[in-house]
Amino acid sequence: MQAITFQQPYKVLVKTVPIPKILQDTDVIVKVCVSGLCGSDLHVYRGDEVGIDKDTIMGHEFMGIVNEIGSNVKDLKVGDRVLSPFSNCCGECFYCCRGITSRCEKGQLFGCLKNGYGIHGGQAEYVRVPLASSTLVKIPEGISDNTALLLCDVLCTGYFCAENGLNELAPQISYLKQYKLEYQKKDEYDDIVVVVVGCGPVGLMSIASAIYLGVKTIYSIDSIQERLEIAKEFGATPIHLIDENPIEKIKEITNGRGADIVLEAVGNLSSLDLSFKLLRPAGVLSSIGLNHSNTFPFNPNDGYHKNLKYISGRCPVRQILTKTIPFVLSKKFNFEKIITHEMKLSDGEKAYEIFEKKLDKCVKVVFKK
Ligand SMILES: [Zn+2]
Ligand SMILES: [Zn+2]
Repeated sequence: MQAITFQQPYKVLVKTVPIPKILQDTDVIVKVCVSGLCGSDLHVYRGDEVGIDKDTIMGHEFMGIVNEIGSNVKDLKVGDRVLSPFSNCCGECFYCCRGITSRCEKGQLFGCLKNGYGIHGGQAEYVRVPLASSTLVKIPEGISDNTALLLCDVLCTGYFCAENGLNELAPQISYLKQYKLEYQKKDEYDDIVVVVVGCGPVGLMSIASAIYLGVKTIYSIDSIQERLEIAKEFGATPIHLIDENPIEKIKEITNGRGADIVLEAVGNLSSLDLSFKLLRPAGVLSSIGLNHSNTFPFNPNDGYHKNLKYISGRCPVRQILTKTIPFVLSKKFNFEKIITHEMKLSDGEKAYEIFEKKLDKCVKVVFKK
């Protein structure tokens, strides 16, 4: 079969490799229909994620058809149309039982092999899924292949980011409703201001999610015009990072306070710094961008004096799907708008270059056979 493989930083290679086999009785082999190229694949591609084995098959986003099944796999059969979270999970450990499926004690990230340990990714014609019963999810009727692909990571991750922000603000809103009569008649999120920093796939999905969850006022910051346009179509007011002054603008709108919630969807120090500065005292910084920095751009003293609420971490996709599948079925957004490039696996090398350099107005690449 064909697969996109990691060779060394800034070099992937499309290779012909053996079709994976069932190794354990809880494995499933999925015949891939669509796989995705994601911002976190770039961490591998650029070598930020150190120690990845040469010839690891790239990619952690894939949906397809169950092709072969281990003898101990329950609730799945050959021919089922399924999607996979970007990491697998056992469904029964300490973390899985608490809904933190992304920290499963037996969980592994697809497309991540180090010293021979780990599992290959989905940018291939077939992929082996260990712990398949508790990992794979059957795709309901009415969800297209491309939208199902977005559910593997970016849509759930964006939703998780927005939901985390709103959950952390909830005590302030219930306090407000208790003490201010006029707020009792209002919708929960009528008066809050949310800002999204970064309009890549995850940022765009967090905009749609925040609006779906009831947010009325949302601003989106990026320096790429095409991305700001999609953000606007999803319902955000765009702010250009370079041509405008985002901090001034948000202060203007909020009587000098700053945003109630900032959803940070980039994952570097400058975006985290901007997010902190955009935030009002006791606001929520919900950070979802995978960040390889080893320090914060603000210090504990800054955090203390802002009564900062900071929340981050890897999305537990398998658990969040219980909310995002109904979200998708509500048909309120055309999520596929973010897919700017449908390419073939054989174009893998070119696809990584386009995506990495943000060429050709690229937002999201998917691979189809
Ligand atoms: Zn991803
Ligand atoms: Zn588990």
